[in-house]
Amino acid sequence: MKDFYELETISMGTIITQKIYGENSQKAALKVEEEIKKLESLMSFFLETSEISKINRNAGLNAVEVSADVLYVLNRAKYFSEVSSGAFDITIGPVAKLWGIFTDKAKIPSQEEITSSLKFTGHRDITIDNSLGSVKLEKVGESIDLGAIAKGYAADKAIEIYKQYNIDSAFVNLGGNVMVLGTKPDGSPWKIGIQNPLLRRDLCLGAVHAVNKTIVTSGDYVRYLQKNNKKYHHILDPRTGYPSDSGLISTTIVSEKSIGADAISTAIFVLGLEDGVKLVNSLKDMEAIFITEDKEIHVTEGLKKDFHFFDEVEGFIYKI
Ligand code: AMP
Ligand code: MG
Repeated sequence: MKDFYELETISMGTIITQKIYGENSQKAALKVEEEIKKLESLMSFFLETSEISKINRNAGLNAVEVSADVLYVLNRAKYFSEVSSGAFDITIGPVAKLWGIFTDKAKIPSQEEITSSLKFTGHRDITIDNSLGSVKLEKVGESIDLGAIAKGYAADKAIEIYKQYNIDSAFVNLGGNVMVLGTKPDGSPWKIGIQNPLLRRDLCLGAVHAVNKTIVTSGDYVRYLQKNNKKYHHILDPRTGYPSDSGLISTTIVSEKSIGADAISTAIFVLGLEDGVKLVNSLKDMEAIFITEDKEIHVTEGLKKDFHFFDEVEGFIYKI
């Protein structure tokens, strides 16, 4: 039996679990923990000292010099906004803040508040100067929130570090952003559960068999505010400023890079089934699972061989 090391860390607003096999497993796990904490300190919307907060404070005023990590993530985020016609938009900051779904101050804002906060969004207002390594938001009051992409980037970093430590079998889960390196030590694929969106965590309605892949899910059950029999969840539609109401309750992307999987799983949640399938099919190396509020499960062609539906899950229909 090879060496094995498991580590849980609280960072980026979630629980991060690593399971690593190999001689350097402990060293690799600790290095990844350190790296993720560093990324959180650079990218957090909530920490005043983060580079993202610095960009936000300087909105409409100054360009801010940032680290290579933040510059890379912002360039990718702009690209994913373009390809998703703005369904993915990191300038959602003012609207997300208004809803406060991640804080104990969550409330349902008025239509006027939402309309006025939407004036301070728009991914085209992020100006990046790659030669200077600086970033500027065009209007006072605008802000960037990397909540839908930073964990994906961190997962990619984790896998890079495992490789540097000659690890060939590892699993990392950043609160729904899963990535696996190689196979399980016995040579079989990792089996990644897809959560039943209507039930408690860790009750799954199917699994994806994966080798060297990332599996990223966006769901309406992750964070929400329940009021008047309605669920106000944390994935916002940048067109309306309200929680996305596209008929989907969970979307999953399976891909080789987690940064894109994270951004696109959020984007297709907002776009809905039809436009979501179109977007996924137009992108290289992406497959998806869509779960609708009518309990239908739709899986893109290339993923059908690796997706295993648990037939006993009541009420859900796997549309083939
Ligand atoms: P995820 O769980 O990856 O789908 O990301 C959801 C988080 O990203 C939310 O908690 C917000 O911080 C932020 N967010 C919400 N809606 C959007 C959106 N349409 N585009 C980009 N980020 C968003
Ligand atoms: Mg995401």
